[in-house]
Amino acid sequence: MQHFPIFLCLTGRRVVVSGAGQAAVAKLRLLLKTDAEVTVFGPDPEPDILSWHREGALRHDERRVDAGDLDCAALLYCASDDPADDARAAALARRRRIPVNVVDDLEGSDFITPAIVDRDPVTVAIGTEGTAPVLARNLKATLEAQLPASLGPLARIGQAFRSRCESVPAGRTRRALWSEYFFRRGPRGYAREGEKGAREALRSLLDEAASATRPPGLVSFVGAGPGAPELLTLKARNLLHEADIVVHDRLVSSQVLELARRDAERVSAGKSGYGPSWPQARIDALLVHHARAGKHVVRLKSGDPAVFGRLDEEIEALEAAGIPWEVVPGITAAAGAAADMGVSLTRRGRNSELRVLTGRDVEGFAEHDWAALARPGSVAAIYMGKRAAAFLRGRLLMRGAAPSTPLTIVENASRQDKRIVATTLLGLPDALDEAHLAGPVVLMLGILPRDAMSKAETDCAAQQEAV
Ligand code: SAH
Repeated sequence: MQHFPIFLCLTGRRVVVSGAGQAAVAKLRLLLKTDAEVTVFGPDPEPDILSWHREGALRHDERRVDAGDLDCAALLYCASDDPADDARAAALARRRRIPVNVVDDLEGSDFITPAIVDRDPVTVAIGTEGTAPVLARNLKATLEAQLPASLGPLARIGQAFRSRCESVPAGRTRRALWSEYFFRRGPRGYAREGEKGAREALRSLLDEAASATRPPGLVSFVGAGPGAPELLTLKARNLLHEADIVVHDRLVSSQVLELARRDAERVSAGKSGYGPSWPQARIDALLVHHARAGKHVVRLKSGDPAVFGRLDEEIEALEAAGIPWEVVPGITAAAGAAADMGVSLTRRGRNSELRVLTGRDVEGFAEHDWAALARPGSVAAIYMGKRAAAFLRGRLLMRGAAPSTPLTIVENASRQDKRIVATTLLGLPDALDEAHLAGPVVLMLGILPRDAMSKAETDCAAQQEAV
Protein backbone atom coordinates (compact mmCIF):
# COMPACT_ATOMS: atom_id res chain seq x y z
CA MET A 1 0.00 0.00 0.00
CA GLN A 2 1.61 3.25 -1.09
CA HIS A 3 -1.19 5.50 0.10
CA PHE A 4 -2.46 5.18 3.65
CA PRO A 5 -6.13 6.17 3.98
CA ILE A 6 -6.93 8.63 6.77
CA PHE A 7 -9.82 10.99 7.49
CA LEU A 8 -8.52 14.52 7.90
CA CYS A 9 -10.46 16.98 10.07
CA LEU A 10 -10.98 20.13 7.99
CA THR A 11 -13.18 22.04 10.43
CA GLY A 12 -11.87 25.61 10.55
CA ARG A 13 -8.98 24.73 8.17
CA ARG A 14 -8.24 26.35 4.82
CA VAL A 15 -8.15 24.39 1.62
CA VAL A 16 -6.84 26.16 -1.47
CA VAL A 17 -7.80 25.22 -5.01
CA SER A 18 -5.66 26.58 -7.81
CA GLY A 19 -7.72 26.78 -11.02
CA ALA A 20 -11.37 27.56 -11.64
CA GLY A 21 -12.24 25.28 -14.56
CA GLN A 22 -14.07 21.94 -14.86
CA ALA A 23 -11.38 19.98 -13.02
CA ALA A 24 -11.64 22.37 -10.09
CA VAL A 25 -15.44 22.06 -10.04
CA ALA A 26 -15.20 18.27 -9.76
CA LYS A 27 -12.95 18.53 -6.69
CA LEU A 28 -15.02 21.34 -5.20
CA ARG A 29 -18.16 19.19 -5.24
CA LEU A 30 -16.36 16.92 -2.79
CA LEU A 31 -14.63 19.65 -0.78
CA LEU A 32 -17.85 21.56 -0.21
CA LYS A 33 -19.20 18.58 1.70
CA THR A 34 -16.65 19.38 4.41
CA ASP A 35 -16.44 22.22 6.95
CA ALA A 36 -13.25 23.57 5.35
CA GLU A 37 -12.82 27.22 4.39
CA VAL A 38 -12.33 26.81 0.66
CA THR A 39 -10.59 29.44 -1.47
CA VAL A 40 -10.38 29.15 -5.23
CA PHE A 41 -7.87 31.07 -7.35
CA GLY A 42 -7.90 31.42 -11.13
CA PRO A 43 -9.31 33.37 -14.08
CA ASP A 44 -12.35 32.40 -16.18
CA PRO A 45 -14.30 30.68 -13.41
CA GLU A 46 -17.00 28.14 -14.22
CA PRO A 47 -20.54 29.38 -13.47
CA ASP A 48 -20.82 26.89 -10.58
CA ILE A 49 -17.84 28.51 -8.88
CA LEU A 50 -19.36 31.95 -9.24
CA SER A 51 -22.62 30.87 -7.72
CA TRP A 52 -20.89 29.08 -4.82
CA HIS A 53 -18.95 32.31 -4.29
CA ARG A 54 -22.19 34.31 -4.24
CA GLU A 55 -23.78 31.88 -1.78
CA GLY A 56 -20.77 32.20 0.50
CA ALA A 57 -19.88 28.50 0.21
CA LEU A 58 -16.35 29.44 -0.91
CA ARG A 59 -14.25 32.46 -1.81
CA HIS A 60 -13.10 33.00 -5.38
CA ASP A 61 -10.30 35.26 -6.59
CA GLU A 62 -9.64 35.88 -10.33
CA ARG A 63 -5.87 35.97 -9.96
CA ARG A 64 -3.45 33.07 -9.81
CA VAL A 65 -2.53 31.61 -6.46
CA ASP A 66 0.46 33.22 -4.74
CA ALA A 67 2.80 32.26 -1.93
CA GLY A 68 0.96 34.41 0.64
CA ASP A 69 -2.37 32.72 -0.20
CA LEU A 70 -1.11 29.44 1.16
CA ASP A 71 -0.43 30.54 4.73
CA CYS A 72 -1.89 28.01 7.17
CA ALA A 73 -3.57 26.02 4.37
CA ALA A 74 -4.19 22.35 5.16
CA LEU A 75 -4.23 21.18 1.54
CA LEU A 76 -3.64 22.50 -1.95
CA TYR A 77 -5.41 21.19 -5.03
CA CYS A 78 -3.77 22.10 -8.35
CA ALA A 79 -6.54 22.00 -10.94
CA SER A 80 -5.65 24.76 -13.37
CA ASP A 81 -5.51 22.61 -16.57
CA ASP A 82 -2.06 24.18 -17.11
CA PRO A 83 0.77 21.80 -16.08
CA ALA A 84 3.31 24.62 -15.78
CA ASP A 85 1.08 26.65 -13.49
CA ASP A 86 0.17 23.54 -11.45
CA ALA A 87 3.88 22.82 -10.98
CA ARG A 88 4.49 26.42 -9.88
CA ALA A 89 1.67 26.30 -7.31
CA ALA A 90 2.74 22.86 -6.08
CA ALA A 91 6.29 24.09 -5.50
CA LEU A 92 4.97 27.03 -3.44
CA ALA A 93 2.97 24.67 -1.24
CA ARG A 94 5.77 22.15 -0.81
CA ARG A 95 8.06 24.86 0.45
CA ARG A 96 5.49 25.34 3.23
CA ARG A 97 5.10 21.56 3.74
CA ILE A 98 1.48 21.68 2.61
CA PRO A 99 0.35 18.40 1.00
CA VAL A 100 -0.49 18.81 -2.69
CA ASN A 101 -2.83 17.04 -5.04
CA VAL A 102 -2.29 17.69 -8.73
CA VAL A 103 -5.42 16.62 -10.58
CA ASP A 104 -4.84 13.55 -12.76
CA ASP A 105 -1.16 13.41 -11.85
CA LEU A 106 -0.54 10.57 -9.40
CA GLU A 107 3.23 10.93 -9.49
CA GLY A 108 3.10 14.68 -8.88
CA SER A 109 0.70 14.37 -5.93
CA ASP A 110 1.37 13.88 -2.22
CA PHE A 111 -2.12 12.56 -1.63
CA ILE A 112 -5.02 11.33 -3.72
CA THR A 113 -8.74 11.87 -3.26
CA PRO A 114 -10.72 8.64 -3.04
CA ALA A 115 -14.11 7.93 -4.54
CA ILE A 116 -16.58 8.67 -1.76
CA VAL A 117 -19.87 7.15 -0.66
CA ASP A 118 -21.38 9.83 1.52
CA ARG A 119 -23.78 8.98 4.34
CA ASP A 120 -22.45 11.71 6.59
CA PRO A 121 -21.20 11.05 9.26
CA VAL A 122 -20.59 7.62 7.72
CA THR A 123 -18.18 7.92 4.81
CA VAL A 124 -16.77 5.14 2.67
CA ALA A 125 -13.59 6.07 0.83
CA ILE A 126 -12.48 3.89 -2.08
CA GLY A 127 -8.99 4.06 -3.53
CA THR A 128 -7.16 2.01 -6.14
CA GLU A 129 -3.91 4.03 -6.08
CA GLY A 130 -4.77 5.19 -9.57
CA THR A 131 -4.71 1.69 -11.02
CA ALA A 132 -8.36 1.10 -11.79
CA PRO A 133 -10.75 4.06 -11.75
CA VAL A 134 -13.44 1.85 -13.33
CA LEU A 135 -13.21 -0.53 -10.41
CA ALA A 136 -13.54 2.34 -7.95
CA ARG A 137 -16.61 3.61 -9.79
CA ASN A 138 -18.22 0.16 -9.77
CA LEU A 139 -17.52 -0.35 -6.09
CA LYS A 140 -18.98 3.05 -5.35
CA ALA A 141 -22.13 2.24 -7.33
CA THR A 142 -22.51 -1.09 -5.50
CA LEU A 143 -22.12 0.52 -2.10
CA GLU A 144 -24.41 3.41 -2.97
CA ALA A 145 -27.10 0.87 -3.77
CA GLN A 146 -26.45 -1.18 -0.64
CA LEU A 147 -26.21 1.46 2.03
CA PRO A 148 -29.58 2.91 2.98
CA ALA A 149 -29.94 6.69 2.95
CA SER A 150 -31.01 6.50 6.61
CA LEU A 151 -27.52 5.35 7.64
CA GLY A 152 -26.30 8.91 8.24
CA PRO A 153 -29.16 10.03 10.53
CA LEU A 154 -29.06 6.67 12.34
CA ALA A 155 -25.35 7.12 13.05
CA ARG A 156 -25.86 10.68 14.29
CA ILE A 157 -28.68 9.60 16.61
CA GLY A 158 -26.55 6.70 17.84
CA GLN A 159 -23.77 9.12 18.67
CA ALA A 160 -26.10 11.13 20.90
CA PHE A 161 -26.90 7.98 22.88
CA ARG A 162 -23.28 6.84 23.32
CA SER A 163 -23.04 7.73 26.98
CA ARG A 164 -26.29 5.94 27.83
CA CYS A 165 -24.89 2.93 26.06
CA GLU A 166 -21.96 2.78 28.44
CA SER A 167 -24.30 1.09 30.92
CA VAL A 168 -24.75 -1.88 28.56
CA PRO A 169 -22.03 -4.53 29.15
CA ALA A 170 -19.20 -4.04 26.64
CA GLY A 171 -18.53 -6.78 24.09
CA ARG A 172 -21.11 -9.09 22.59
CA THR A 173 -24.19 -7.59 24.27
CA ARG A 174 -23.34 -4.05 23.28
CA ARG A 175 -22.46 -5.04 19.73
CA ALA A 176 -25.70 -6.99 19.39
CA LEU A 177 -27.60 -3.88 20.49
CA TRP A 178 -25.92 -1.66 17.91
CA SER A 179 -26.33 -4.21 15.19
CA GLU A 180 -30.06 -4.53 15.98
CA TYR A 181 -30.35 -0.74 15.93
CA PHE A 182 -28.42 -0.10 12.69
CA PHE A 183 -29.71 -2.97 10.63
CA ARG A 184 -33.19 -3.77 11.87
CA ARG A 185 -35.11 -1.66 14.32
CA GLY A 186 -33.41 1.65 13.55
CA PRO A 187 -34.17 1.63 9.80
CA ARG A 188 -37.71 0.37 10.51
CA GLY A 189 -38.33 3.18 13.00
CA TYR A 190 -36.82 5.71 10.62
CA ALA A 191 -38.98 4.51 7.73
CA ARG A 192 -42.07 4.89 9.93
CA GLU A 193 -41.48 8.20 11.68
CA GLY A 194 -38.12 9.58 10.57
CA GLU A 195 -35.59 10.59 13.23
CA LYS A 196 -38.18 10.35 15.99
CA GLY A 197 -38.88 6.71 15.08
CA ALA A 198 -35.17 5.87 15.06
CA ARG A 199 -34.67 7.51 18.46
CA GLU A 200 -37.55 5.56 19.93
CA ALA A 201 -36.16 2.30 18.53
CA LEU A 202 -32.82 2.93 20.20
CA ARG A 203 -34.43 3.98 23.47
CA SER A 204 -36.45 0.79 23.68
CA LEU A 205 -33.40 -1.32 22.84
CA LEU A 206 -31.54 0.34 25.71
CA ASP A 207 -34.45 -0.27 28.08
CA GLU A 208 -34.53 -3.93 27.10
CA ALA A 209 -30.77 -4.26 27.60
CA ALA A 210 -31.01 -2.68 31.06
CA SER A 211 -33.49 -5.32 32.21
CA ALA A 212 -31.80 -8.31 30.52
CA THR A 213 -29.34 -10.59 32.26
CA ARG A 214 -25.88 -11.04 30.90
CA PRO A 215 -25.62 -13.89 28.35
CA PRO A 216 -23.06 -16.60 29.08
CA GLY A 217 -19.87 -16.69 27.04
CA LEU A 218 -19.28 -19.04 24.17
CA VAL A 219 -16.24 -20.70 22.65
CA SER A 220 -16.30 -21.38 18.91
CA PHE A 221 -13.62 -23.77 17.68
CA VAL A 222 -13.11 -22.57 14.15
CA GLY A 223 -11.11 -24.15 11.34
CA ALA A 224 -8.99 -21.49 9.64
CA GLY A 225 -8.11 -23.74 6.69
CA PRO A 226 -4.59 -24.07 5.33
CA GLY A 227 -3.99 -20.35 4.86
CA ALA A 228 -5.82 -18.82 1.90
CA PRO A 229 -8.60 -16.60 3.29
CA GLU A 230 -10.94 -17.69 0.47
CA LEU A 231 -10.84 -21.20 1.90
CA LEU A 232 -12.58 -20.15 5.11
CA THR A 233 -16.16 -21.28 5.49
CA LEU A 234 -18.79 -18.55 5.52
CA LYS A 235 -19.55 -19.42 9.12
CA ALA A 236 -15.88 -19.03 10.08
CA ARG A 237 -15.82 -15.63 8.42
CA ASN A 238 -18.94 -14.48 10.22
CA LEU A 239 -17.64 -15.67 13.58
CA LEU A 240 -14.38 -13.78 13.03
CA HIS A 241 -16.48 -10.64 12.58
CA GLU A 242 -18.28 -11.26 15.86
CA ALA A 243 -15.50 -12.46 18.15
CA ASP A 244 -14.56 -10.56 21.30
CA ILE A 245 -11.28 -12.41 21.42
CA VAL A 246 -9.44 -14.62 18.94
CA VAL A 247 -7.08 -17.24 20.35
CA HIS A 248 -5.11 -18.62 17.44
CA ASP A 249 -2.38 -21.08 16.55
CA ARG A 250 0.88 -19.84 15.18
CA LEU A 251 0.10 -21.49 11.86
CA VAL A 252 -3.00 -19.40 11.21
CA SER A 253 -2.06 -17.11 8.34
CA SER A 254 -1.94 -13.36 8.81
CA GLN A 255 -4.40 -12.93 5.94
CA VAL A 256 -6.99 -14.94 7.85
CA LEU A 257 -6.32 -13.00 11.05
CA GLU A 258 -6.87 -9.78 9.10
CA LEU A 259 -10.53 -10.78 8.88
CA ALA A 260 -11.05 -10.68 12.63
CA ARG A 261 -12.97 -7.72 14.04
CA ARG A 262 -10.56 -4.78 14.35
CA ASP A 263 -10.97 -4.34 18.08
CA ALA A 264 -11.15 -8.03 18.94
CA GLU A 265 -8.31 -9.00 21.26
CA ARG A 266 -5.88 -11.45 19.63
CA VAL A 267 -3.83 -14.00 21.48
CA SER A 268 -1.27 -16.15 19.75
CA ALA A 269 -1.42 -19.33 21.80
CA GLY A 270 1.18 -20.79 19.56
CA LYS A 271 2.40 -24.30 19.39
CA SER A 272 5.13 -24.53 16.85
CA GLY A 273 6.67 -27.92 16.30
CA TYR A 274 9.92 -27.23 18.08
CA GLY A 275 9.97 -23.64 19.25
CA PRO A 276 8.67 -22.28 22.56
CA SER A 277 5.02 -23.08 23.03
CA TRP A 278 2.11 -22.65 25.40
CA PRO A 279 1.32 -25.61 27.64
CA GLN A 280 -2.15 -27.00 26.89
CA ALA A 281 -3.35 -26.25 30.43
CA ARG A 282 -2.61 -22.56 29.92
CA ILE A 283 -4.68 -22.47 26.72
CA ASP A 284 -7.56 -24.31 28.42
CA ALA A 285 -7.46 -21.85 31.32
CA LEU A 286 -7.45 -18.86 28.98
CA LEU A 287 -10.53 -20.11 27.09
CA VAL A 288 -12.41 -20.76 30.34
CA HIS A 289 -11.41 -17.40 31.82
CA HIS A 290 -12.67 -15.30 28.90
CA ALA A 291 -15.83 -17.31 28.33
CA ARG A 292 -16.69 -16.98 32.04
CA ALA A 293 -16.40 -13.21 31.63
CA GLY A 294 -19.23 -13.46 29.06
CA LYS A 295 -17.00 -13.13 26.01
CA HIS A 296 -17.37 -14.80 22.68
CA VAL A 297 -14.06 -16.57 22.18
CA VAL A 298 -13.07 -17.77 18.73
CA ARG A 299 -10.49 -20.50 19.09
CA LEU A 300 -8.98 -20.40 15.65
CA LYS A 301 -7.06 -23.49 14.60
CA SER A 302 -5.22 -23.97 11.34
CA GLY A 303 -6.81 -26.40 8.91
CA ASP A 304 -9.59 -28.38 10.54
CA PRO A 305 -9.86 -28.15 14.34
CA ALA A 306 -10.46 -31.89 14.61
CA VAL A 307 -7.24 -32.90 12.86
CA PHE A 308 -4.17 -32.84 15.12
CA GLY A 309 -5.68 -29.87 16.92
CA ARG A 310 -6.09 -31.19 20.48
CA LEU A 311 -9.73 -30.31 20.14
CA ASP A 312 -11.01 -32.94 22.56
CA GLU A 313 -8.82 -31.70 25.36
CA GLU A 314 -10.05 -28.13 25.00
CA ILE A 315 -13.67 -29.22 24.75
CA GLU A 316 -13.26 -31.30 27.91
CA ALA A 317 -11.90 -28.28 29.78
CA LEU A 318 -14.96 -26.24 28.72
CA GLU A 319 -17.39 -29.01 29.60
CA ALA A 320 -15.84 -29.24 33.03
CA ALA A 321 -16.41 -25.52 33.48
CA GLY A 322 -19.97 -25.69 32.07
CA ILE A 323 -19.20 -23.38 29.15
CA PRO A 324 -21.08 -23.73 25.86
CA TRP A 325 -19.04 -24.45 22.73
CA GLU A 326 -19.42 -25.23 19.04
CA VAL A 327 -17.13 -26.57 16.31
CA VAL A 328 -16.87 -25.09 12.83
CA PRO A 329 -14.92 -27.40 10.51
CA GLY A 330 -12.22 -26.19 8.15
CA ILE A 331 -10.22 -27.44 5.21
CA THR A 332 -7.40 -29.62 6.45
CA ALA A 333 -3.85 -29.29 5.09
CA ALA A 334 -4.10 -32.61 3.19
CA ALA A 335 -7.15 -31.40 1.25
CA GLY A 336 -5.43 -28.09 0.51
CA ALA A 337 -2.30 -29.90 -0.67
CA ALA A 338 -4.22 -32.31 -2.93
CA ALA A 339 -6.00 -29.33 -4.51
CA ASP A 340 -2.65 -27.63 -5.15
CA MET A 341 -1.30 -30.84 -6.67
CA GLY A 342 -4.36 -31.21 -8.88
CA VAL A 343 -4.86 -34.86 -7.95
CA SER A 344 -7.32 -36.87 -5.95
CA LEU A 345 -6.53 -38.48 -2.63
CA THR A 346 -8.30 -41.73 -3.43
CA ARG A 347 -8.37 -43.49 -6.76
CA ARG A 348 -10.12 -46.54 -8.08
CA GLY A 349 -7.73 -49.42 -8.43
CA ARG A 350 -5.02 -47.65 -6.48
CA ASN A 351 -6.23 -46.85 -2.98
CA SER A 352 -9.63 -47.10 -1.39
CA GLU A 353 -8.21 -45.87 1.87
CA LEU A 354 -6.53 -42.63 2.89
CA ARG A 355 -4.42 -42.34 6.00
CA VAL A 356 -3.87 -39.14 7.90
CA LEU A 357 -0.96 -39.42 10.28
CA THR A 358 1.51 -37.39 12.21
CA GLY A 359 5.28 -37.68 12.13
CA ARG A 360 5.47 -36.95 15.82
CA ASP A 361 3.46 -37.62 18.95
CA VAL A 362 3.99 -37.04 22.65
CA GLU A 363 6.63 -39.77 22.74
CA GLY A 364 8.69 -38.32 19.87
CA PHE A 365 8.62 -39.83 16.38
CA ALA A 366 5.29 -41.61 16.03
CA GLU A 367 4.93 -45.32 15.31
CA HIS A 368 2.33 -46.48 12.78
CA ASP A 369 1.17 -49.54 10.90
CA TRP A 370 4.25 -49.38 8.68
CA ALA A 371 3.49 -52.64 6.86
CA ALA A 372 0.15 -51.25 5.66
CA LEU A 373 1.73 -47.94 4.69
CA ALA A 374 4.52 -49.71 2.80
CA ARG A 375 2.11 -51.60 0.52
CA PRO A 376 2.11 -50.42 -3.12
CA GLY A 377 -0.65 -47.91 -3.83
CA SER A 378 -1.08 -46.82 -0.25
CA VAL A 379 -1.65 -43.09 0.21
CA ALA A 380 -1.03 -41.08 3.37
CA ALA A 381 -0.93 -37.43 4.29
CA ILE A 382 1.80 -37.04 6.87
CA TYR A 383 1.50 -33.99 9.11
CA MET A 384 4.41 -32.69 11.18
CA GLY A 385 6.70 -34.95 9.21
CA LYS A 386 9.52 -32.58 8.25
CA ARG A 387 11.87 -33.48 11.10
CA ALA A 388 10.74 -37.10 11.11
CA ALA A 389 11.55 -37.62 7.42
CA ALA A 390 14.61 -39.83 7.85
CA PHE A 391 12.80 -41.90 10.48
CA LEU A 392 9.73 -42.31 8.26
CA ARG A 393 11.85 -43.37 5.32
CA GLY A 394 13.79 -45.87 7.41
CA ARG A 395 10.67 -47.50 8.84
CA LEU A 396 8.93 -47.73 5.46
CA LEU A 397 11.93 -49.13 3.57
CA MET A 398 12.48 -51.65 6.34
CA ARG A 399 8.88 -52.84 5.91
CA GLY A 400 9.41 -53.35 2.20
CA ALA A 401 8.24 -50.10 0.62
CA ALA A 402 9.75 -49.51 -2.83
CA PRO A 403 12.47 -46.85 -2.72
CA SER A 404 10.80 -45.33 -5.82
CA THR A 405 7.45 -44.89 -4.02
CA PRO A 406 6.18 -41.49 -5.15
CA LEU A 407 6.13 -38.76 -2.53
CA THR A 408 5.27 -35.09 -2.72
CA ILE A 409 6.38 -32.41 -0.31
CA VAL A 410 3.87 -29.58 -0.08
CA GLU A 411 4.87 -26.46 1.80
CA ASN A 412 2.41 -23.63 2.55
CA ALA A 413 -0.48 -25.44 0.88
CA SER A 414 -3.09 -23.09 -0.63
CA ARG A 415 -0.99 -19.99 0.05
CA GLN A 416 0.59 -17.79 -2.55
CA ASP A 417 4.08 -18.86 -1.53
CA LYS A 418 3.28 -22.58 -1.76
CA ARG A 419 5.98 -24.97 -2.96
CA ILE A 420 5.43 -28.44 -4.34
CA VAL A 421 8.37 -30.79 -4.64
CA ALA A 422 7.87 -34.19 -6.28
CA THR A 423 10.31 -36.83 -5.10
CA THR A 424 10.50 -40.47 -4.01
CA LEU A 425 10.59 -42.14 -0.63
CA LEU A 426 14.32 -42.70 -1.07
CA GLY A 427 14.97 -39.09 -2.05
CA LEU A 428 12.82 -37.54 0.70
CA PRO A 429 15.47 -36.38 3.22
CA ASP A 430 17.72 -34.94 0.49
CA ALA A 431 14.79 -33.21 -1.21
CA LEU A 432 13.82 -31.63 2.12
CA ASP A 433 17.40 -30.51 2.76
CA GLU A 434 17.71 -28.95 -0.68
CA ALA A 435 14.39 -27.15 -0.52
CA HIS A 436 15.10 -25.31 2.79
CA LEU A 437 11.44 -25.15 3.73
CA ALA A 438 10.57 -22.69 6.48
CA GLY A 439 6.76 -22.96 6.30
CA PRO A 440 4.41 -25.77 7.37
CA VAL A 441 4.86 -28.93 5.33
CA VAL A 442 2.63 -31.89 4.65
CA LEU A 443 4.16 -35.01 3.07
CA MET A 444 1.91 -36.76 0.59
CA LEU A 445 3.03 -40.37 0.46
CA GLY A 446 2.03 -42.39 -2.61
CA ILE A 447 0.95 -39.54 -4.88
CA LEU A 448 2.58 -37.02 -7.23
CA PRO A 449 1.34 -33.69 -8.54
CA ARG A 450 -0.54 -34.01 -11.83
CA ASP A 451 2.24 -32.55 -14.00
CA ALA A 452 4.94 -34.74 -12.43
CA MET A 453 2.56 -37.69 -12.60
CA SER A 454 2.20 -37.59 -16.36
CA LYS A 455 5.98 -37.22 -16.65
CA ALA A 456 6.53 -40.23 -14.37
CA GLU A 457 4.05 -42.22 -16.45
CA THR A 458 5.77 -41.17 -19.69
CA ASP A 459 9.17 -42.11 -18.28
CA CYS A 460 7.78 -45.46 -17.26
CA ALA A 461 6.28 -46.06 -20.73
CA ALA A 462 9.60 -45.04 -22.35
CA GLN A 463 11.46 -47.51 -20.15
CA GLN A 464 9.07 -50.29 -21.10
CA GLU A 465 9.52 -49.48 -24.77
CA ALA A 466 13.29 -49.59 -24.38
CA VAL A 467 13.00 -53.00 -22.78
N1 SAH B 1 -5.41 -28.85 12.12
C1 SAH B 1 -4.43 -28.74 11.08
C2 SAH B 1 -3.17 -29.49 11.41
C3 SAH B 1 -2.44 -28.93 12.59
S1 SAH B 1 -0.95 -29.78 12.91
C4 SAH B 1 -5.04 -29.16 9.76
O1 SAH B 1 -6.14 -29.72 9.75
O2 SAH B 1 -4.43 -28.92 8.72
C5 SAH B 1 0.23 -28.77 12.10
C6 SAH B 1 0.71 -29.41 10.82
O3 SAH B 1 -0.26 -29.26 9.81
C7 SAH B 1 1.95 -28.80 10.25
O4 SAH B 1 3.10 -29.28 10.87
C8 SAH B 1 1.87 -29.25 8.82
O5 SAH B 1 2.26 -30.61 8.71
C9 SAH B 1 0.38 -29.21 8.56
N2 SAH B 1 -0.03 -27.95 7.90
C10 SAH B 1 -0.84 -27.00 8.38
N3 SAH B 1 -1.02 -26.02 7.48
C11 SAH B 1 -0.32 -26.36 6.38
C12 SAH B 1 -0.11 -25.79 5.10
N4 SAH B 1 -0.69 -24.62 4.75
N5 SAH B 1 0.67 -26.43 4.22
C13 SAH B 1 1.24 -27.60 4.54
N6 SAH B 1 1.09 -28.21 5.73
C14 SAH B 1 0.31 -27.61 6.64
